[in-house]
Amino acid sequence: FDNVDDVKTQRITDSKFDPQKLYQKERGDGKEHLYMVVIGHVDAGKSTLMGHLLCDLGQVTLLDAPGHKDFIPNMISGAGQADVALLVVDANRGEFEAGFDYGGQTREHALLVRSLGVSQIAVAVNKLDTVSWSQERFDDIVKKLKTFLRQVGFKESDVSFVPCSGLTGQNLIIKPTENDLLRWYDGPCLLEVIDKFRSPERPVSKPFRLSINDIFKGTGTSFCVSGRVETGTLSAGDKVLVCPNREYAVVKSLAIEESSKTIVFAGDQVIATLSGIEMQNVSVGNILCDPQRPVQVAMKFQARIVVFNVSVPITKGYPVVLHNQSLVEPVVVNKLISQLNKSTGELLKKHPRFLGPNTSAIVEIQISRPIALELYSECKELGRIMLRIGGVTIAAGLITQIIL
Ligand code: GDP
Repeated sequence: FDNVDDVKTQRITDSKFDPQKLYQKERGDGKEHLYMVVIGHVDAGKSTLMGHLLCDLGQVTLLDAPGHKDFIPNMISGAGQADVALLVVDANRGEFEAGFDYGGQTREHALLVRSLGVSQIAVAVNKLDTVSWSQERFDDIVKKLKTFLRQVGFKESDVSFVPCSGLTGQNLIIKPTENDLLRWYDGPCLLEVIDKFRSPERPVSKPFRLSINDIFKGTGTSFCVSGRVETGTLSAGDKVLVCPNREYAVVKSLAIEESSKTIVFAGDQVIATLSGIEMQNVSVGNILCDPQRPVQVAMKFQARIVVFNVSVPITKGYPVVLHNQSLVEPVVVNKLISQLNKSTGELLKKHPRFLGPNTSAIVEIQISRPIALELYSECKELGRIMLRIGGVTIAAGLITQIIL
C-alpha cells in the first residue's frame, strides 16, 4: 500500500462492519488488557515495589520512569495512556509528609492522573517495615489520603489502600506472613487489589483517533508511530488522516507489543507502520484519525478549568504550556471569560480580572499554530487539557468550545 491513493477501503460505509461485535469476538474470551500507571514521590519505593512484584510473578519486564519533578511532562504523557493508577507512598516517619506537602509529588501526581481521566486508584502504603508495621501510622496515612483523594475527585469506592513493603515483599502477591502486620490486617494483598480493578469500557464504535507519543524509523521508506487508540478501531491497510497537517497516510502494519495484528481497538497501545507520508511531516502530539470523520483543527478554544494552588494569579495574556494527550505546546490564556462556582458550576462573575488559587473558570486559549482538537463532550479522551508553567501544573480542564 505504498501509494495512499491505491487504498479504497471504505469500511465506514460498510454496514456489515460492527466494531462492538468484532471486539467481543477478538477479545471477549481472553484476558482484557489494563494499563496501570505507577505514581508517587521520588524515593517512595516505586521501582523496588514493582520490581519485586514482577519478579515474584516471574514476569520481569520493567519499564521505569523517574519520580523527580523535572520528569512530570513524561509522567503526564505516560498517565494519559493509563486506565488505572497505583500510588506509592513512603510510610517512613517524615517521608510521607515530605511527599504529601506542597511541592511533593504525591499530591501533584494524584491530581494529574485524576485530571487525565483515571478514576480508579490503589494506594500502596509502602516501607511499613520501617515503622514496625504500625497500624497507627497506616491509619493516619489512610485518613489523610482519603480526604485528599476525595477532594481531587476520586469516589471513595474507587480508592483502596494496601499496607506493604516493596523491599521485603510483604503483602505483594501473597497474604502477609509478618506477625506484626497479621495482628491488625486481614485485607487483600497488592496483587488482589490490582486484579480487582475494573477495565473501563472501550469506545470502539466511535470514530478512530490515536494520539502519537513516539515516532521511529522502520524498514525501507516506512516509519512507525506509537500511541494509544483512544477511540474506534484501526485495521492494517486503512487510510488515516494525520492532523493538524491534514496529510493522508496508509497503515502498512499494526502491532501490540511484539505481535502483529490485523485490527486494533480503543484502549490498545499500538505501533503502526505508516507509508505514503514523510516522516518529518509527523510529530509527537499529532492525531491520527478517520479521514471521513476527522478531528478539528484550530488555533483557539475555550476550556472550563480548575485552577490549582497557584502562587501567582492567572491574568489575561498569561503564557502557559498546554498538555493535551502527548501534545506539549506553548499557548497564551487569551481571555478570562467567566468565573464559576467550583462545586455547582454556576456563573459567579463575567470577565474576572484574575483567577486565584482553587477557582473554576471558562477561559480562551490562543495557540500560535494550528493543533488537532476535540470537544470533551465528543471525545473525553482527547478533550482534557492541563496547563503548566515553570514545571508546575497550574490548572486542568475540559475543552468546551473550539473556535475556528
Ligand atoms: P522510587 O524513586 O519511587 O522508584 O524509589 P526506589 O524504588 O528507587 O526506592 C528508594 C529507596 O527506598 C531505595 O533505597 C530502596 O531500597 C528503599 N525502599 C524501597 N522500598 C522499600 C521498603 O518497602 N522498605 C524499605 N525499608 N526500604 C525500601
